[in-house]
Amino acid sequence: MLEITSIKNGLVIDHIKAGIGIKIFNHLNLEESDLSVALIMNVKSNTLGKKDIIKIEGIQEIDYRVLAMLSPNITINEVRDEKIVNKLIPELPEKVENIITCDNVRCITTDENYVPQIFNLVDRDKATYKCEYCDHIMKLV
Ligand SMILES: [Zn+2]
Repeated sequence: MLEITSIKNGLVIDHIKAGIGIKIFNHLNLEESDLSVALIMNVKSNTLGKKDIIKIEGIQEIDYRVLAMLSPNITINEVRDEKIVNKLIPELPEKVENIITCDNVRCITTDENYVPQIFNLVDRDKATYKCEYCDHIMKLV
């Protein structure tokens, strides 16, 4: 296991599917923040083959469920005084708005930008969501 910077108080987001780390980085707007962040890409993993890891020092609150949508099976480690005090695997949310976009070209959300992208969870294990407007099924992984 590759140890880059260890953090004192913050979050270690682990088991991110390789290549998705940058999406989470962007989603959390980390570029704009003045937090210390380490994005570690393509770390060897026994379960995933390769994975990404994000370490964030001093972060306050984030919506963990949204992170699960970007990469199911993600693990969030909360770190206090350099120790992991809480380890959690966020569940996929039942309903999401403006997180994923419908890839059905005939869907109303493709033409009408003001229409929110709303999806409902269909199958938690398969990580599939259904578009509220056109019933198109989207698979997250
Ligand atoms: Zn749709």
